[in-house]
Amino acid sequence: MRCHLLAAAAAIVPLVSVPTPDPVDLVVDQVRGAAVKAHLAAFQRIADQYGDTRASGTPGYDASASYVASRLRAAGYQVREQAFTFPFYREIEKPVLRRGRASHLVKTLEYSPSSEVRAKARPVGANGCVAADYRGAQGSIALVQRGECSFRVKADLAQAAGAVGVIVVNTAADAPDGTLSKPGLRIPVVAVGQTTGPKISGKQVRLRVRTESEDRVTRNVIADSPGGRADRTIVLGAHLDSVIAGPGINDNGSGSAGLLEVALRMHAVRPANKLRFAWWGAEELGLLGSTHYVSQLPPDQYRTIAAYLNFDMIASTNFTYGIYDGDDSDAVGAGPGPAGSAQIEKDFEGFFRSRRLPFVGTDFSGRSDYGPFIKVGIPAGGLFTGAEGLKTAAEAEKFGGTAGQPFDSCYHKACDNITNLNDTALDVNSDAIATLAATYAFKAPSRN
Ligand SMILES: [Zn+2]
Repeated sequence: MRCHLLAAAAAIVPLVSVPTPDPVDLVVDQVRGAAVKAHLAAFQRIADQYGDTRASGTPGYDASASYVASRLRAAGYQVREQAFTFPFYREIEKPVLRRGRASHLVKTLEYSPSSEVRAKARPVGANGCVAADYRGAQGSIALVQRGECSFRVKADLAQAAGAVGVIVVNTAADAPDGTLSKPGLRIPVVAVGQTTGPKISGKQVRLRVRTESEDRVTRNVIADSPGGRADRTIVLGAHLDSVIAGPGINDNGSGSAGLLEVALRMHAVRPANKLRFAWWGAEELGLLGSTHYVSQLPPDQYRTIAAYLNFDMIASTNFTYGIYDGDDSDAVGAGPGPAGSAQIEKDFEGFFRSRRLPFVGTDFSGRSDYGPFIKVGIPAGGLFTGAEGLKTAAEAEKFGGTAGQPFDSCYHKACDNITNLNDTALDVNSDAIATLAATYAFKAPSRN
């Protein structure tokens, strides 16, 4: 009997111990680096087709958004496109300032309109911060000292007084970088160095500015899991826009592509908690898409978002495996995130530990799309393989790569193209996204 029982038990035990497939393992297994890379190749093709940029307000962004939306729809998602207006600006050509044949160094102030004018550069009174300073400016290019009030105040007053352009004279040798804060002016506005002012004062000059400066519409792309508790929603986001200067394949094609592949593979999973996947527009202009999204949430719904996970640059060539320092254990820069952020950091750490991979904290600065979420108390976390910062010797020891070099030497440049990626980091971090998405789909992180 005894023997018989043992035999029966032996027959049963293997059956019982056959592991039911863990949804986390299933999804992670299905998220392949090659598939993520294929999305990035699509983003590169879009950039190739549309002037080497995928910035919000350009056709390259719209094509990127359509690509993400169409892949999601093909996988069965209902996709919502959330449109919003934002101030678009790009400089098409360096400005020109000439007096006769002499050319002067000059910089366009951000949001200056495009224009070419010929007129006398006429000095205005004092610092040009009150209307009376522009008496007699009609028909001239207002030559105004920097200081006391903003560039925009000076430009608005000059335009109201009938000036045809504005040249701001710096208090230092160089022509300064500066912004007019938003579009809407009709006259060109530039800045010159201190010594240029006297050379053109009272003289006939020609000023040419070539820009695009206007309000445009862009959109977030949002898709929810089928089912799951809406009062425990997990939002996962990545910005889809690049800067004007380049195709943005690492920043942030990488996070966008990793998130897209995870969303596509997660569609077959029936989660206990709702997953909301979001691709944000206009991050590069000041987190505008995510800010718009949060601004549209009724405040009584903040509590229904159990976590926000952000993926902005996950495949830098000279990478580290960076995890947002939600608990401020590094005591660097910004303090800890909202309650629950520490748990998210620990869960990402658990992933890297399980792979026996090193990781490092990165400051919880709010300088990506999790910023608007943590501002309203939503716990957040995310991954970051590094941007223009330099890799330390200790980091090179830990992760390989080159000390003293930027994590991404093509950050915000034209060379952030399909070759500007580390395939291993891309693959590993995509698995990290899949792991937390599938884990939180069944058990939201605790807020303690
Ligand atoms: Zn970015």
